[in-house]
Amino acid sequence: MKVYIRTYGCQLNVNDTEIMLGILERYGHTVVNSIDDADLIVLNTCAVRAKSEEKVYGKLGEINRIKRVKPNIFVGIAGCMVEDKREELLSNDTVDFIIGTRAITRIGEAVGRLQKGDRKFAILDDLSDELAGELPFHRLDRYHAWVTIIRGCNKFCTYCIVPYTRGRERSRPPGEILKEIKQLALSGYKEITLLGQNVDSYGKDLSGNYRFSDLLEDVARIDGVDRIWFLTSYPNDLEERVIDIVSSNPKFGKLFHLPIQSGSDRILKLMNRGYTVKQYLRLIDTVRRKCPNAAITTDIIVGFPTETAEDFENTLKVMETVRFNRVNVAAYSVRDGTYAAKHFEDDVPRSIKLKRLNEILRREREISLERSEELLNTSAWVFLRGRSEIDPRDAYGYTDQFKTLIVKDGVKFLGRWARVKIIKVSSGLLWGEMEKVVERRGELVHTL
Ligand code: SF4
Repeated sequence: MKVYIRTYGCQLNVNDTEIMLGILERYGHTVVNSIDDADLIVLNTCAVRAKSEEKVYGKLGEINRIKRVKPNIFVGIAGCMVEDKREELLSNDTVDFIIGTRAITRIGEAVGRLQKGDRKFAILDDLSDELAGELPFHRLDRYHAWVTIIRGCNKFCTYCIVPYTRGRERSRPPGEILKEIKQLALSGYKEITLLGQNVDSYGKDLSGNYRFSDLLEDVARIDGVDRIWFLTSYPNDLEERVIDIVSSNPKFGKLFHLPIQSGSDRILKLMNRGYTVKQYLRLIDTVRRKCPNAAITTDIIVGFPTETAEDFENTLKVMETVRFNRVNVAAYSVRDGTYAAKHFEDDVPRSIKLKRLNEILRREREISLERSEELLNTSAWVFLRGRSEIDPRDAYGYTDQFKTLIVKDGVKFLGRWARVKIIKVSSGLLWGEMEKVVERRGELVHTL
């Protein structure tokens, strides 16, 4: 069977897609890159925002039209929407099966049932929690790999559906993670991103005292891995030891993604975030003191129930104080089943939410542009991760501060490091020309 999986949402979903594709390949199926070529289409969904769900329903409408012409194609739904909207999805005419976030390793079984004529079934059992280290992957990148280290979340922020859809925190055993990364390094992957809803909780559910900082040190010891990132940190849980490791070890990208969500203590309390603005800013000071060249990025929600103009002004003030390197902003949307959905009225009008969202975006673009302009005519190291979508002769990669850098004529050096002179900037992108290319950082192989 020819299989196409469309992924929505976070990098954890991307990693789940890679696992499902790897398993299906092991069953003898073929991965295709176009929905039109597929016999089986799986939508790996996200339920974090209403907008993501709308996109999935839009795609189902499109697939429904394809199905009328090609009635023999199968359609499955995976990901967080399955946990949230089981009946609704199964009763959708286009959908043949659903598979839960904790059952993705049973995707081969789902296809077997389709081939036997089974339809409208759900595979939800919690069998894949301890995702075995031997799982096959169909890696979507050639030089960079996502590695999930912990699944689920125990925080229960009042607006968030994740603890309900992905369950409680479950860390993968360190030996399994390290084995996977060693295999990746042997296959030529030089850049790794460790993933979890809250990576700082890593190890707390395992026996013994092995923590996230121990894992970081062990990953950095793996020969062949040249750059390591991790996502996402929870402000309260980020340990100083982690900051010290990132700061002192050149293998780590200097990035801390620390979602603040709001600059108002009152709203933070309603969100159950567990910190005040003052505590958050103290953490930022610690990060900047220990790792002065670190980029700090964040997530913000605008229009949370009862958010006043003053609350919003306070969020803008935090933006001015921190001058985040990047802000992901979203307008609050009700997620059924969450505490906020049950107890708070969604009382900020949509027009005000959009106005606040646009204000954050405008200020974010200005700050990002100012930061980009500071880099003009400087040089930066970048790992050439993939082909640019703008011009296929160019490569793209990330600077140590996670700024996307498009490298002119870089595509023939993919998988290597380049020292790049930055010649043009925008708020979100940098463009540059190679000064030199090396196989591994610090080891000159080819000078242009
Ligand atoms: S930390 Fe909060 S926002 Fe993040 S996944 Fe957990 S509950 Fe959701």
